[in-house]
Amino acid sequence: MRGIVQGVGFRPFVYRLATEMGLSGSVTNTTEGVDIRLTAQGNIPINAFITSLRQQAPPMARLESVTSRPLTETTMAAGFKITKSDNTLPLRGVTPPDTAVCAACRKELFDPADRRFLYPFINCTNCGPRFTIISAIPYDRPQTSMGVFEMCGDCAAEYQNPASRRFHAQPDACWACGPRLSWHDHLGHQLTTASPIQAAAKALARGKIVAIRGLGGFHLAVNAADEEAVRRLRRRKGRSVKALAIMAADIDLVSRFCHLSAPEAQALEGPERPIVLLQRHESESLAASLSPNLNELGVMLPYTPLHYLLFAASTCPAALVMTSGNPSAEPICTANNEAVSRLKGIADFFILHNREIIARADDSVLRVISGRQILLRRARGYVPSPLALRLDLPPLIACGAELKNTFCLAQGRQAVLSQHIGDLIHPGYLDFFNDSVHHLRQLTGIKPLLAVCDEHPDYQSSAYARKLRLPLFTVQHHHAHAAAVMAEHGLKSGLAIILDGAGLGADKAVWGGEIIMADHLKYQRLGHLQYLPLPGGDQASLQGWRLAVALCALSGQALPPHLQEIEEPKRQMILAMLKAGVNCPPTSSAGRLFDAAAAILGLRLQSEYEGHAAMELEAMAWRAMRGKSLAKALAQDPILPEAVYEKNNRVMIIKTVPMLTGMLNLSCQYEVQDLALDFHLWLCRTLSAFAGQLNPAGDLPMILGGGCLQNKLLRQGLTILLKEQKFKVYSGEEVPVNDGGLALGQALIGGSRYVSRCAHAGH
Ligand SMILES: [Zn+2]
Ligand SMILES: [Zn+2]
Repeated sequence: MRGIVQGVGFRPFVYRLATEMGLSGSVTNTTEGVDIRLTAQGNIPINAFITSLRQQAPPMARLESVTSRPLTETTMAAGFKITKSDNTLPLRGVTPPDTAVCAACRKELFDPADRRFLYPFINCTNCGPRFTIISAIPYDRPQTSMGVFEMCGDCAAEYQNPASRRFHAQPDACWACGPRLSWHDHLGHQLTTASPIQAAAKALARGKIVAIRGLGGFHLAVNAADEEAVRRLRRRKGRSVKALAIMAADIDLVSRFCHLSAPEAQALEGPERPIVLLQRHESESLAASLSPNLNELGVMLPYTPLHYLLFAASTCPAALVMTSGNPSAEPICTANNEAVSRLKGIADFFILHNREIIARADDSVLRVISGRQILLRRARGYVPSPLALRLDLPPLIACGAELKNTFCLAQGRQAVLSQHIGDLIHPGYLDFFNDSVHHLRQLTGIKPLLAVCDEHPDYQSSAYARKLRLPLFTVQHHHAHAAAVMAEHGLKSGLAIILDGAGLGADKAVWGGEIIMADHLKYQRLGHLQYLPLPGGDQASLQGWRLAVALCALSGQALPPHLQEIEEPKRQMILAMLKAGVNCPPTSSAGRLFDAAAAILGLRLQSEYEGHAAMELEAMAWRAMRGKSLAKALAQDPILPEAVYEKNNRVMIIKTVPMLTGMLNLSCQYEVQDLALDFHLWLCRTLSAFAGQLNPAGDLPMILGGGCLQNKLLRQGLTILLKEQKFKVYSGEEVPVNDGGLALGQALIGGSRYVSRCAHAGH
């Protein structure tokens, strides 16, 4: 059996099934998956066994393939047994992701008669930590951070009892034998308390900041309704405006704070327990500074026993900010001493525990768009579930992007995308990258024959790939974005609209608003957004005002009042750079177009993080949508001037300057929100019309990719108009459309090129 079959109660399930059906034999974990040996009279009982196996598999299991053959042994003992894992084979098994505490365990947690009453580490074969506590496979207790805890008699009896829900549950523990919580002051000194949970709940109610050691790392928690406390957390963490996620006690409470559709509720309550972006109600009691200038809030439900215990404490606030426990520009803390030294000065108290976190994993983030769950950050709860491919790839590593990095290990028809790592420009994240590559190679056993990276030579991930001394394949950034969607949906080729931040283009310009024909080996650039000068280059990418000033200069327009507020010498510097043509790389980036539009409208001149201006522009556009359907909005008369195309060689250029200058001229006649909406609609109309010209029959698969497709308005609007033209539209769902999914696309292209090269070489 291959797939997610270890650490999910699969062997005990096989044992029970075989015993019920009166079959003799054995079951064992191997590095390939699970191996079952059966003896029976004829084939019929064996076929019935395999059918039941598929139908009744445990909730966390994912059976990907079952292969069978006759055994060569002629004798086998009667009865059925679970045998010790075989760890001499090369590693190929798959580790399950971490899963929220199950309903059965939650019932025991609050049952005073249960021996695990209020035990914060309760779990069973159907739930609990996996990926974050396993250092190598096969998945057995000594290979996990539970190895140091010797099971007590009661736990050992359950572990050995096939009738128990904890039969062979590796992280099983209880008050008598397992890990414990402890309560510490702001310097990390342990404080005596009967209950760290009660102490934390009281501190949170008083507006204190508590660092909590969780599943994949530390959280910083604070009362989400306490404006003063939230501001204090922002100040101490050095996170001025970026939205903070909250955890609410239960789903009813969530619906009091936010609009909640059925698919959103389903996403919230799923065993993966991601952060779901939800639209805030106008009048709710949470701190305004949780998500300034945005209409959405990241919300999650409790997922560890500790979270449930905390919310059950009578003094605990009903909603807590639960933001990653790290100083800005550093990865989330995992170890006790590391957290105490790095979070000193941020946290007032610490809840620590003595179960080590082996793999760091941030909370995952998703947004429901058109009823579908769209992952924006893929980490805890999803990783390392493999992604199924429709073709065979050689063993490889694809090293991903510079920002929002993930990497990918692939072999055969499986690709394992790493957890969200972060921005490799900061040294701490580079260490995290290195550790994660080592860890995931241990878990998958993949020994790469080749490496793949971005064409940008200065990415840290590209530098890492070069150091591996393997055959190296470099992939253009936006081709990789298209390929990530092709890999997820099993496409061989397609017409792709990639709307993204920045990626190095073949002509050395900064690309990011591209229409390409792509397959697994190559791409052809058919069109792109007009090149605009980016005064200051990459360093200026967060400063939309520079683009706006450049635009005014190019089109001979006077600066609008809000841009005149920018200091004169700064503006002069931009003009001087433009005039001399120095440090002004041309860019077709759609992300920069959003930045420019936000600056022209006076919404945001300077972004605090990648995507900041675009998120505020989208939030503003939604205000103009009140009560209107998107299809209706798309059908209304445009405000901004219609798009102009220009042909340059064989590439079509979509002129954006006339639209932006139109926006500048119209800004005194229209509300900002109406122009923000029309900007989105302009992109939808222009790009879908362009796609229609390229493929009037609409018979090519239409691929949407790049970070801008996280924008709900843009994604839905484009999809509506493309479908009207009979296109079948594909975009990232399980794999992020942003740079977090790039490594999968690199893997597909690099692996395919390697195979094709070997075929040409006659191997
Ligand atoms: Zn459970
Ligand atoms: Zn025990």
